[in-house]
Amino acid sequence: MAPEHSEQPEQPEHNLFHHHLLAVGKFNYAKGERPNVDCIFCGVRDNNPDITSLKVYEDERVFICLNLYPYNPGHLMVIPNRHLERFEDLSGEDRNYMFQVVMDCQKMLQDLFSPTGFNVGYNQGQYAGASIRHIHVHIVPRYREELGFIDIIGATKIIVENADSVFNKVKARIGEYVGSKRSERL
Ligand SMILES: [Zn+2]
Ligand SMILES: [Zn+2]
Repeated sequence: MAPEHSEQPEQPEHNLFHHHLLAVGKFNYAKGERPNVDCIFCGVRDNNPDITSLKVYEDERVFICLNLYPYNPGHLMVIPNRHLERFEDLSGEDRNYMFQVVMDCQKMLQDLFSPTGFNVGYNQGQYAGASIRHIHVHIVPRYREELGFIDIIGATKIIVENADSVFNKVKARIGEYVGSKRSERL
């Protein structure tokens, strides 16, 4: 990741699933210039040309993006298509489906990158550090070689893995894990 892309956002948040996930135009988002859309995830879902995203999968219920500024190679987000701001507002079917997709993603990441563990979870509400209200689940692969948990809390981690190669690998393979069993579940 080039140095100019590693700036802190305008309101640094010290939480586990910190956002640096999307670039707008020439990375203005990283400089604190929010895109002119009501919801950045709805924009990603709708392929808004003003939003650069790393969407790797979409279907009738969810879409999946790589985090543009990941804590670790393979940091994914699973996002429901419906704009909801509380997990309890998901239908039972959507909730089950999302959780299945999360596990499918973990299986894929395990096969592709051999992490030694995962942090999976979400921030709900701005005081809990949710900088984007549209609910989503973060999947952060963890690796034995990491310096430690404090790097994630402090959002200071430097990613050495080539982001393009991670994107290409995930994009090429994710359909085998998430898409293949989709018809049985809908
Ligand atoms: Zn988040
Ligand atoms: Zn939304």
